[in-house]
Amino acid sequence: MPKYIDIHSHTNFKAFEEDGDEVIQRALDNGTWVINVGSQYSTSKRAVEIANKYETGVFACVGLHPIHLEEQFHDDEEIGGEGFTTRAEEFDKEAYRELLKDPKVVGIGECGLDYYHLNKDSVEKQKKAFIEQIELANEVNKPLMLHMRNNPTDKSLNVYDDVLEILKKYAKACPEGSGVKGVSHCFSGTAKDMKNFVDLGFYISFSGNVTYKHKAGFPDYEEIIKATPLDKILADTDSPYLAPVPHRGERNEPVYVKEIVKKIAEIKNLEEEIIAKSIVENAKRLFDI
Ligand SMILES: [Zn+2]
Repeated sequence: MPKYIDIHSHTNFKAFEEDGDEVIQRALDNGTWVINVGSQYSTSKRAVEIANKYETGVFACVGLHPIHLEEQFHDDEEIGGEGFTTRAEEFDKEAYRELLKDPKVVGIGECGLDYYHLNKDSVEKQKKAFIEQIELANEVNKPLMLHMRNNPTDKSLNVYDDVLEILKKYAKACPEGSGVKGVSHCFSGTAKDMKNFVDLGFYISFSGNVTYKHKAGFPDYEEIIKATPLDKILADTDSPYLAPVPHRGERNEPVYVKEIVKKIAEIKNLEEEIIAKSIVENAKRLFDI
């Protein structure tokens, strides 16, 4: 049994090309298990390869992130290569089904909807790819690693409501309480959004931004974490992004998940060990590891 688990990390990304093995070893040496998450086919495959280098404690999720449906997407930290832009990828169910045969693959994603750069055509495309990934999750009975991001200015749409509506319609046995479940990683909705997901049986994972000083217009993590049931709380670093305080601004890595656990314990007014243990148990239950 590990002490911590980072349920959503990307040591499969370019940012860890030089020292990914050391980063994982550092996590394992500190009693931290890692789930690396794919954002498209290439990074999904890489996550599976990394997981297979280790006998225990390193796992993978495979899926297509909604921003990879757009041709203009580029992130140096993720795919590298100056001036290089990814092709728009269509969800190839058969290719991902093949990756899912590997016993180290514990979930599907990251998938979901991203309204950050909102354009109406892309929303339909995103919904289609998301539904296909839910169908695959139904087929192989694995949990969904959900990515949801609202638009910072246009508040006419709520990504959490739209994802819920799709889950209720397509995810097997939602909302009856059995069948496909998942987790909202890097949760940044409201307390009401949190409750809607918990009511449907989903887990809520908090990231480094819970350690940042609260600013108007951003989620009130104090309120949200207090209201989230302990048996539904998870933690993820989303490495290399969003490093928690006191590492804010640096490249993030899985071992820093303990700073997120510490903050959750502080808000819940409980011992850090209790939160850490509960998160590990929740992750083991959700991902069947
Ligand atoms: Zn991610």
